[in-house]
Amino acid sequence: MPAQKTQAIVIRAFPLRESHKIITFYTPDFGKVKAVAYGVKSPKSKLSGSLELLNHGMLLFNYRENRDLQNLTSFELIEGFDGIRTDFARITYGCYLAELVDAIASEGDANPEIFELLQNTYYFLADTDDVPLLARVFEIKFLDLAGYAPQLSQCANCGSVMAASPIKNTQNASTTTPMMFFSVRHGGLLCADCQHRDTSAFSITPGSCELLKTLRKSELGKLSRIRASTRNHRELKLVLSSFIQYHTERNLKSLKFIESVLEV
Ligand SMILES: [Zn+2]
Repeated sequence: MPAQKTQAIVIRAFPLRESHKIITFYTPDFGKVKAVAYGVKSPKSKLSGSLELLNHGMLLFNYRENRDLQNLTSFELIEGFDGIRTDFARITYGCYLAELVDAIASEGDANPEIFELLQNTYYFLADTDDVPLLARVFEIKFLDLAGYAPQLSQCANCGSVMAASPIKNTQNASTTTPMMFFSVRHGGLLCADCQHRDTSAFSITPGSCELLKTLRKSELGKLSRIRASTRNHRELKLVLSSFIQYHTERNLKSLKFIESVLEV
C-alpha cells in the first residue's frame, strides 16, 4: 500500500452516516480519487474544515489499485478560493464546474491539463466580470481535453469546410439570415447538404460559432478582452449544455439550479 502525495481539488463531498464523509478529489496524477474521511464532522478532526467543496490542497493517501474508496491520510489546504465563496453566483458556477468534472472524468485516469484548467478557472472565477462566459470557456476547453471536442471547422458528417446556410428570417420573410447548424448527435456543425440528417440540430449565428472557436483557444487571463452579446450567451449556453448532457447522460443538478435561480 504505497503512500501517495498529490495536489487535489475537492469536487464532491457526500455525508456518510453521522460523522464521516465520502470525498471525491480531482488530482493531476490519478484523475478522480474517492476516499472516506472518517470522523471529519467532529470539531476535533484534523480534517475538519479543510475538505470543503472547491478547496485546493495537498492530499496524502494510501493508494490501493482497483479499490473504489482510498484511505485518506491527510489533506493540507493550499487555497480556499474565498473570493468565490463570498459571491452567490460565483460559488454556484464553481460547484457546477466541479460537478461537470465529476460527471465526465473517470477514476485512475490521469489528465494533468484538466486539473490545471479547473484550478486556473477557480482563480479567475473570483474576479471575472462575465461569470457565464468563463463557464463557457471552461466547458469547451474541458470537452476538448476529455476527448469530446466538437467539430467546428468542418461538417461533422461529410467533412466539408463549413459555411453558414441562408435561412428565412422569421420577422421578414423576404430576407434571409445566414445560420450554422450544430448537431449534438453528430458531434458538431453540419453543412447545408447534411443538416437534414439531424432535424433536432440547433441553429446558431455564425458570430456565436466564431466566438466558440475563439474561446476554445483563448487564455483565461485574456477573457476580459472578449465581448459576448446576450444572443451569443444564449446560443453557446444551449449548444454546450446540450452537448454536455448528451455525453454525461445525466442532468447536472447545479446546472438546473443555475437555470432556475441565476438565469431568471
Ligand atoms: Zn456535410
